[in-house]
Formats: sequence, structure tokens, C-alpha cells
Amino acid sequence: SENFYDIVAARFPANPDAPFLELASGAVLSYADLAATSARYAHLLSELGVVKGDRVAVQVEKSAEAVFLYLACLRVGAAYLPLNTAYTRAEVAYFLTDAAPRVFVCAPAAAEGLRDTASEAGVGAVLTLGAAGEGSLTDGAAGKPTDFDTVVCASGDLAAILYTSGTTGRSKGAMLTHRNLASNAATLHRLWGFQPDDVLLHMLPIFHTHGLFVAINCVLMNGSSMLFQSKFDPDAVFRLLPRATVMMGVPTFYTRLLADDRLTGAATAHMRLFISGSAPLLADTHREFFERTGKPILERYGMTETGMLTSNPLSGERIPGTVGFPLPEVSVRVADEKTGAPITAPGAIGVIEVKGPNVFIGYWRMPEKTAQEFRADGYFITGDVGKIDERGYVHIIGRAKDLVISGGFNVYPKEVETVIDAIEGVVESAVIGVPHPDFGEAVVAVVLRKPGADALDEAAVARACKEQLANFKVPKAVVFTNELPRNTMGKVQKNLLRDAHKDHFD
Ligand code: ATP
Ligand code: MG
Repeated sequence: SENFYDIVAARFPANPDAPFLELASGAVLSYADLAATSARYAHLLSELGVVKGDRVAVQVEKSAEAVFLYLACLRVGAAYLPLNTAYTRAEVAYFLTDAAPRVFVCAPAAAEGLRDTASEAGVGAVLTLGAAGEGSLTDGAAGKPTDFDTVVCASGDLAAILYTSGTTGRSKGAMLTHRNLASNAATLHRLWGFQPDDVLLHMLPIFHTHGLFVAINCVLMNGSSMLFQSKFDPDAVFRLLPRATVMMGVPTFYTRLLADDRLTGAATAHMRLFISGSAPLLADTHREFFERTGKPILERYGMTETGMLTSNPLSGERIPGTVGFPLPEVSVRVADEKTGAPITAPGAIGVIEVKGPNVFIGYWRMPEKTAQEFRADGYFITGDVGKIDERGYVHIIGRAKDLVISGGFNVYPKEVETVIDAIEGVVESAVIGVPHPDFGEAVVAVVLRKPGADALDEAAVARACKEQLANFKVPKAVVFTNELPRNTMGKVQKNLLRDAHKDHFD
């Protein structure tokens, strides 16, 4: 069977007592626990009528049981559909109506308020699962058999629906198959050199591709263990680093570690690999982290719809500010955004398009949107703008939607941000386009200063930009802020910034 569960189960350690997951409490769950609990949950789901092709929607806190539930869904052939824990009742209502799952699993405290919503959306059963594993999922599964015949699936069958982060608009449900999961997991496992004694430090949420598929699927492919923390916490990081070998994080993890005096070469000596993704890692962060620890962070790039697409090399030069090479079975090209004509000149900028066994089969219940995002020859249009340099490294310049067109000229925010970020006293910046009566859109820079750098003013920022950039790229306004709005994955929410500053030139 090409069920992804069968693929990883064939690689589980020979000793079933081998650890799979260690909780913050120190409790350890083994591969035998994984197999038994996912079997019990699979029986319960089956009894509730879940069959191959159904969806199981899940909005729960991070827990070992949530991981077993993901595996149970694979085992019954259902599509696992995790939802961000931050979603409100109204948002959950939208997702339940959109996805029409057979079963919805939510936090015990939320069940009361969501039951009506679920029944209106046609959900067959609501189960509860709390952060400590309590609730009707665990209770209902308690007496069930500890073995289960995993449902046979073809590689093209649906394994999960993951909603995109909603950075550029309403989240879309990306339909991912067993092949999508298997190809990406096998590739990353090999490429990042996983060995049986690797221990992954897991502090990411598990409702996104990063924490769920990149992290957990690599561990499952490897049959090794992870230190499973409910969230990022520097104290826990420094306590656990001596026992871990690999950490996966978003860029904010790394900037927060850099702000901590405990980050030293000695503290990270046991680590073989620090991986970053989900949002751009500033080249400065990469360099400072290397200076402090002697470890070059490995940056990779991917998205919900495709899993991972590119990675800096395990052995070989990891270049700050780049996302590395296309994964072996992934074709990456740069194309003219409007015509779709591929651009082959090294360093030429265009929209990034990709093809491979990792690419999703479409957006759930959005056939037109799906059709729009694929070229006739099967390439998926990522919506990210970038370039491939002469050495083959991919650079992400930004999102096509964030491109500013001012007075008819294209301005890539990243180019302006790079100049501003290099100014003494600047922590970081976000460049956006806002409506302007003469220029259509005007470039506006939102800038975060270092503590004590209050003397840095709008004129100084404009001066630095004028020295290095063509006039049409120089911000028409500079706004200082104490914080850039970010979502859970550390992505700057430029739509919120555009909204906040839309009347600036009225
Ligand atoms: P939505 O599609 O709903 O607007 P989203 O694109 O943020 O939200 P995700 O699928 O979680 O949702 O994120 C994928 C995006 O994250 C990529 O398209 C890219 O813009 C960004 N990204 C991921 N890794 C990197 C990276 N290493 N460097 C720069 N950008 C990255
Ligand atoms: Mg996206």
C-alpha cells in the first residue's frame, strides 16, 4: 500500500520500546505507544463512520495525542485537517462549513460553543482532546484494540488538507496526497542526513506544514525521537540543546536566541543542524548566529501547497539570504509573471514556478482558483518572486502580491528593506505600497529602531535610501513602529500594514 503510514511504519525501529516522543513533563512515549494509540483512535473514527475520503477536522493544543490522531487519520484513509488554535468560533464555522468533515475534534473547553456550529455544518460527531490528552477522544478509544489494519491507499489518494497561513488573504485548503507527503519526507530525510540517533527539538505548532510534515515526518521516516515542547521557550531550548541534534525553527526563534546571553558555542556544541524556514531569515541573523555558535543555520523554502521546495546544502556552502538549491525531484523555474514565459538568464527576476511529486493536487472546493495557479505544462505558480543565481542558489525576493508599482515602475520591497536594514540603529523594516494620488502607489517604509536609536529619523532613512537606490524606489514616507505585525509562523503581515497606512497620502 502507498498509504504514508505504511511507508513510515516499515521503517520504525526494530525495538518497539524505542522512544518516539518526550514531553515537557519528561514522560516518554514509544513507537509501541504510537502504533497502539493510533490503532485505537482509528477504530474509534471507523465506528463513528469515518471512511476513506472523509475529512477529520482538528483544532486542539499541541500534544502527543494530536500526533497520534494525525496518524490515525492516515490509517483509516481519511484526510487530516488541522486548524490553527488561534481561530475564533466564527472562523472555525467557516472552515467546518467549507470542509464538511465527518468528525471534528476540539478542545474540551471549546466543545460547548462549537457543537451547534458543527451540527449546522453537517459534522457527524464532535470529540474533545485537551492539552494533557484528556477528553472524549481518549475516553472513547480506551477499550479499543491496539492493532488496526491500515486502509490501503494509492499514492494519489488524499492524505491531508492543510489551510495556508492566510498571509495574503483568506486561507485556502491545499489538498495533499500520500505521494506528496512520502516524496517530501523521503527527500528531506536523506538530504538533511538523518541518522537513527538524531533527536529533534520540536517547538513549532503542528497545524502548519513546518511543524507537522517537515518536522514530524522526518522523525517518522527516521524512526528516531523528538523532544516535544508545547511552544518556543528559550529556557527550554537551553535546557534541551545538550540532548538534541536537530532543531527546526522559524526566523523569530533564532532572533530570540540571539538576544539571549546563553547562546554560545558551548551551549550548541551537541547540535548538528539548525534549520530555518516559513519566513525569510535575515542574512544578518544567519551571520550573527554563526559568529556566536560556529553553526551556519540551514535555510530552506517551501509552502503549504508544495511542502519543501529548496534547501541550502547539508555539506557545502549555506549562503545567507538564499534558500539554496531545488530539492532533487523538484523542478524550479523563474518565469515572467504575466506571460508565464520561462526566464533562463541567471539572476533574472521573475515569479517562481515549481513542479514535482510534492506539489498538491488543488485547492479544496476551488477549481477555478486551482486552474489559475497552474501553467498549462503543469507548473504551479508559487506567487513568490525570486531569482536563481549563476551557482544555482535560489533567492526569494518577496511575494508578487507585495510588489509595489509606483509611477509605473516596479519596486521589490526586499531591495529597499535590505538598504534600510543596513542603516545603523535599524532592527528591521517592512516596505509596502499604499495608495497615492499621483503615483498610483507610493513606497512606504515601516521601520523598527534599536533601543536608544531614537535620533534616527525619517530624513536619515531617506538619505541612506537615496544614496543607494533609484529615486522611484526611495520611500515617500517612513513610519516608525515598536513592532511589526507577525502571525504564528513569524511572517510579517503586510496586509495589516497596508491597511493601517492606506490613508497616509489622502
Ligand atoms: P497565504 O498563501 O494564505 O497567503 P502563506 O503563503 O504565508 O499564506 P504558507 O503556505 O504557510 O502560507 O507559507 C508559504 C510562504 O512562506 C511562501 O510562499 C513564502 O512566501 C514564505 N516562505 C517560506 N519559507 C521561506 C523562506 N525561507 N524565505 C522566504 N519566504 C519563505
Ligand atoms: Mg501562500
